[in-house]
Amino acid sequence: MTEYGMLSRKIATFLSAVCLCLSSSCATWSSGSPIQAVKKIYLKKEKGNYFLCLDFNGDILLTQRVHTLPNGIKAFLSFKKEVALPKSKRLSHNLIKGCFFEKFSPESLMFMAAFKKDVIFTDNESTSRYMKIGFKINKKPLIVLDASHGGKDFGVVGIGGNIEKNMTLATAIELLDLLQKSGKYQALLIRDGDVFIPDLERILKINSLNADLLISFHTNDDDMRGISVYTLPNLNLLKQSPNSSVVMENDDYYKTLSLSKKFARYLIGYIPKICRKNRPRRSGHLKILEVSSPAVLVEVGSILNPRDNELLHMRSFREKFNRAILCAIDKFFEKGKP
Ligand SMILES: [Zn+2]
Repeated sequence: MTEYGMLSRKIATFLSAVCLCLSSSCATWSSGSPIQAVKKIYLKKEKGNYFLCLDFNGDILLTQRVHTLPNGIKAFLSFKKEVALPKSKRLSHNLIKGCFFEKFSPESLMFMAAFKKDVIFTDNESTSRYMKIGFKINKKPLIVLDASHGGKDFGVVGIGGNIEKNMTLATAIELLDLLQKSGKYQALLIRDGDVFIPDLERILKINSLNADLLISFHTNDDDMRGISVYTLPNLNLLKQSPNSSVVMENDDYYKTLSLSKKFARYLIGYIPKICRKNRPRRSGHLKILEVSSPAVLVEVGSILNPRDNELLHMRSFREKFNRAILCAIDKFFEKGKP
């Protein structure tokens, strides 16, 4: 299981067993038993920065530095005395999804916290009696770029031995660079090298990242020239498909699909007509799009077609294409995260 998957599982387990929430400014949660290691846990806000604080009853030692995960943190705490698992209370807070403890040994605990919003971790501080984890709300949209295929999966093998997995990776890396230089977005690649990653693993990763937009790149699987953009079909069509693993409720599915279609429309609008395929906006049951974020699959052209193959190997052509994507992203997020 991946670390992301493990976090989700731990949090799911936790939410049914231990639900810790905090009030908006500085609520506390006190343990009931004298042998509880954790005295209280609370949230503080100072100059726009938040701190998740834990006070302890006994002397602690952080056995590793605080480890940050997408939308979560993990810390290992060891105590001089034998400790009990902290008991829980039900509270609520609009930033914290949950906090979770697990006993590792008689004298150590693992602490995990998950956030409802996308956060950036700032600084951590710990003494033998408290731990303070700094974070702020991340307002930059997160865009995940998926270079399809990779490793043993070559995708389409085109003219002159050009292969799809290399083409999609080059396109994704160059778009990542543009997005980072814009300073307006966080951007991540699902793969940044020639590695094989199964679709299910890609989907789990994208969902755990809580992405605001997924763009997956392919080349056309025929020799027809031009760019096209795919979104998922309507839910009833998708449910007829034997391989569908969509678990979203109808309302969530349609909300996400309508955002995906909106982005696809913007993107097609920024691509010159001469570079598009006929009917460039398409829908299809494409596994990678079964994510909880708005998502499109872009076929960037055909490496089986001599003219497209030549264009796709020109960095200047790919740059124009990626700039069109950037314009569509700017339009999609012009009023903030949708
Ligand atoms: Zn492909």
